[in-house]
Amino acid sequence: MRVGAPYDGRPATTTPRTAGTGVRPYHLPVHSFDKDADAAAVDAVLDYARERLLMDPVPLDRSRSESELVEMVGQTITAEGLGHDRTMELFVDTLAQACLSTDHPGYLSFIPCAPTREAAAFDVVVGASSIYGGSWLEGAGAVYAENQTLRWVADLAGMPQSAGGVFVPGGTVGNLSALVAARHTARARALASGSGDRPYRIAATDNAHSSVVSMAAVMDAEVVGVPVDDLLRMTGPALRRVVEEHGPETFFAVVATSGTTNFGVVDDLAGVAEVCREFGIWFHVDGAYGGAGLAAPSVRPLFDGIEHADSFIVDPHKWLFAPFDCCALLYREPELARAAHTQHAGYLDVLTASPEWNPTDYSIGLTRRVRGLPLWFSLAVHGTDAYVEAIESTLAVTRHAAAEIERRPYLELVRDPDLSVVVFRRHGWSPADYQAWTDRMLEDDFAFVVPTTFRGEVLTRFAVVNPMTTKEHVSAILDTMAPLS
Ligand SMILES: *Cc1c(COP(=O)(O)O)cnc(C)c1O
Repeated sequence: MRVGAPYDGRPATTTPRTAGTGVRPYHLPVHSFDKDADAAAVDAVLDYARERLLMDPVPLDRSRSESELVEMVGQTITAEGLGHDRTMELFVDTLAQACLSTDHPGYLSFIPCAPTREAAAFDVVVGASSIYGGSWLEGAGAVYAENQTLRWVADLAGMPQSAGGVFVPGGTVGNLSALVAARHTARARALASGSGDRPYRIAATDNAHSSVVSMAAVMDAEVVGVPVDDLLRMTGPALRRVVEEHGPETFFAVVATSGTTNFGVVDDLAGVAEVCREFGIWFHVDGAYGGAGLAAPSVRPLFDGIEHADSFIVDPHKWLFAPFDCCALLYREPELARAAHTQHAGYLDVLTASPEWNPTDYSIGLTRRVRGLPLWFSLAVHGTDAYVEAIESTLAVTRHAAAEIERRPYLELVRDPDLSVVVFRRHGWSPADYQAWTDRMLEDDFAFVVPTTFRGEVLTRFAVVNPMTTKEHVSAILDTMAPLS
């Protein structure tokens, strides 16, 4: 993509990019408004990035109301520009501090995002490099590296060598892309068989992520609920009943979850896979949060059956220590996804007609950032063993939390944790008490733990995906829930 000499503000003339390539016959002029000012701005940005990347501990910070921000920051977009000093100052001193740090070790709400320093730092490089990640032609080196990273994930799941996919912004887009591929495949098959069927249903449990219901609405598909067992899992027999009752030919996909967001429940994937195979229904596994558990020997057996998935997602920005926003989407037979997703246009023919791997052909969207590279860099630097160890360490902290909860008479586990999420109740607390405690923890810059709801009851939930969250942290947070004696 890059043409011409290193950026020096002057027209490129005889300077080759690398020694030995000789004088280039063609050159483009490179213009700058003011190279010195640009360099100072770049330094200011990179200096702050370096400082933030190496901060220890990171501040938790807090949200601000819009009127507070109007008061503190005022208008930033002006005709003359504020200059980099003032703009950085506004960001560092005010705007950044009005955002919670999801990598704070006491941030246990939702699913935190706690990237390795290497991954977060490499995101700066991705931004700096102007790489177009949609096609092999333009982004070969980056796509090659992304694909090796996807291969690591596919191997963890036991998917065949033919498997492949793409990094997309998040689990929502990953689920949508997989489901669109599933429907396209089912309808193409129905058309080819002349059956006249038009499959429009998805089977999923109530515990499936909200994105499944939302994306089904986008697709004008109908979600049919599969009742869960006592352990809150989808099982083969329950799925079979639902599919038979509604007619197998009406379904184009089953969505199983390998680690529900609220509880970390892994469905009975082997049982679900068997029913999908029997009826010829696409088997999608949503591992946006929990898929990382595949790398951890202590929980790997929970995922048995995932190797049969037609498609699978995992969000490295959740439990694989990559920065926002990143979802690995994998297909057993990528050409089925390619048939569903390739965009056709005259100006794209040069790409779509090529036999190379064009990531954009496997998901919703055309233009793409090479968002898999931060994970790739960190994985290449540390090696996969370090990832196994880090994931196991978060599981050990979660088990410690569960044991501490059981040990304390004022607390009660709602369900034994499968993965790194633990949900529990505080005896005697009303919903308002939970909220007041949450507010106090945040005000004290100590922890961010929001309540959750399950079957109408307000409860507390820890999601542990940050290796910097220690056993001492969770014990200290639990201590703050003790009754005042
Ligand atoms: C987080 C999550 C999603 C949605 O992923 P985004 O990256 O937030 O779009 C989907 N499914 C599950 C199980 C999740 O935990």
